[in-house]
Amino acid sequence: MTPEEVALHAKTLEHASPEAILTWALSTFAQGNLAQASSLAVEDQVVTHLLAGIDPRPAIFTLDTGRLFPELYATIARTEERYGLRIEVLFPDRADVENLVREEGINCFRRSVVLRKRCCDVRKVRLLHRRLAGLQAWITGLRREQSVTRVGVRPVEWDTANGLVKINPLAAWSEAQVWAFVAAHEVPYCELQDRGYSSLGCAPCTRAVEPGEDARAGRWWWEEPEHKECGLHLVDGTPVRARLAGG
Ligand code: SF4
Repeated sequence: MTPEEVALHAKTLEHASPEAILTWALSTFAQGNLAQASSLAVEDQVVTHLLAGIDPRPAIFTLDTGRLFPELYATIARTEERYGLRIEVLFPDRADVENLVREEGINCFRRSVVLRKRCCDVRKVRLLHRRLAGLQAWITGLRREQSVTRVGVRPVEWDTANGLVKINPLAAWSEAQVWAFVAAHEVPYCELQDRGYSSLGCAPCTRAVEPGEDARAGRWWWEEPEHKECGLHLVDGTPVRARLAGG
């Protein structure tokens, strides 16, 4: 699908329901060419729930950076059990991680933005790119409301950085809609979200946020806000979001 064709579909699907967007995606891209990238955050859990309701064997993957909260592994297990599916867990290249740790230390991400981004690159971005290279389209749980850097997210868009179609079925949803859906359908979600973790990721780089704090305040809180991306989501070369398994 070309960027021009994507723009046409994007227009048609701009106000479609998440179910309609996912149904379109599953009927447009053959099995093996489409997958959900899940951070296991509540939005991604809603998307998984919807996908499982349409396709009994949806392709869903997540990134295990090696620094995740134990609660995230429990979420993977509960999700697999609930929907009778297997989530593909991707791991970073062993040599890459060993080199990073040997050269810079186990917690190098605390020392500088450069080292933090290198850690994110080794533990997340490279494996995401590896997986996306085999796809024509990927599905995310991005919502416009999540931050000012995400207001341009559309339900269907061309992912220039990765050269494939990006599908964001919850783009127009509010946080309240997400939680109402979770409650109505008993969607399994990570217990950390009940303890103030509005964003899920690597344990050393994620903390709970206080009521009224920005949802992203709990990520890399020792950095200036403009640095708080890891390169998982780019629009025209600019990072817009970083929340996939530690991002
Ligand atoms: S979020 Fe932290 S631990 Fe995880 S990959 Fe990025 S810098 Fe490394």
